[in-house]
Amino acid sequence: MDCWTCERTALGACRFCGRGVCRQHAKMHPFILDTFRGTKHEKLRALVVDDALHCGVCRPKSDPVELPELE
Ligand SMILES: [Zn+2]
Ligand SMILES: [Zn+2]
Repeated sequence: MDCWTCERTALGACRFCGRGVCRQHAKMHPFILDTFRGTKHEKLRALVVDDALHCGVCRPKSDPVELPELE
């Protein structure tokens, strides 16, 4: 797999869209690992990892969102 941006060998794949990214073009972006409902909170919340690999090309949402459609 090659980097989407510069076509050199990719070191990883974007967590969001699957494009290849080299070290130079890799970016970090929060990624939602799981969603849960705490005992103290009524709303469904999301567990995120802050530094998931991101290609810099696709545009995932920057903030965890409430998921009323899954409730
Ligand atoms: Zn690159
Ligand atoms: Zn991407």
